[in-house]
Amino acid sequence: MKTLVFDLDETLVFSSLEATDDADHVLSIAGQTVYVQVRPGALAIARTMRELFACRVWSTGQPIYVEAVCAAMGLEWMEIWGRDRCRRLDAIPENHFEPYDKPLHLISQDLAKIVIVDNAPGAFNCNPENGIPINTWRGDPEDRQLFHLTYYLRWLHHLPDMRRDHRAWPQETVILRNERRCGPLKNTGGGLS
Ligand SMILES: [Mg+2]
Repeated sequence: MKTLVFDLDETLVFSSLEATDDADHVLSIAGQTVYVQVRPGALAIARTMRELFACRVWSTGQPIYVEAVCAAMGLEWMEIWGRDRCRRLDAIPENHFEPYDKPLHLISQDLAKIVIVDNAPGAFNCNPENGIPINTWRGDPEDRQLFHLTYYLRWLHHLPDMRRDHRAWPQETVILRNERRCGPLKNTGGGLS
């Protein structure tokens, strides 16, 4: 089975220590109150992808925080990794937000069959062809990225080797959807559903 790795913060959720009425979950973690907003489509994409991939969460957050948020969202069925599994870098490269990498070979030796969705492109440092970038989300209720991404991932999972340049996936998804409306897809290795 192929593997899909989700980043957590600003990919699936936005968490803050500042109180907000928009929080979906208010959690007490290590003596702090954490206000968690869930990105539109996050639960739906998890539910849909569970049928297609072995799904994981890999966050640069502390494990106690990552596990609490995933439990609140009902995502305990995923394998959940936190900062302790990330690789710490000596310095912060230009495109990093944090001094951490997520080397996918720690999960699978078969890099043709694993992708990671992350808002921090630095996470793809080790495996650029496995990284699917997504816009950073900080609470916009109109955001639709995860709904569009669901479409892309459904197409992608048909490919025997999922490694490619994923940076243009939002535009490619529009093309794929239009092609489907106009006629059969070519060279996709399978239909969109
Ligand atoms: Mg993130």
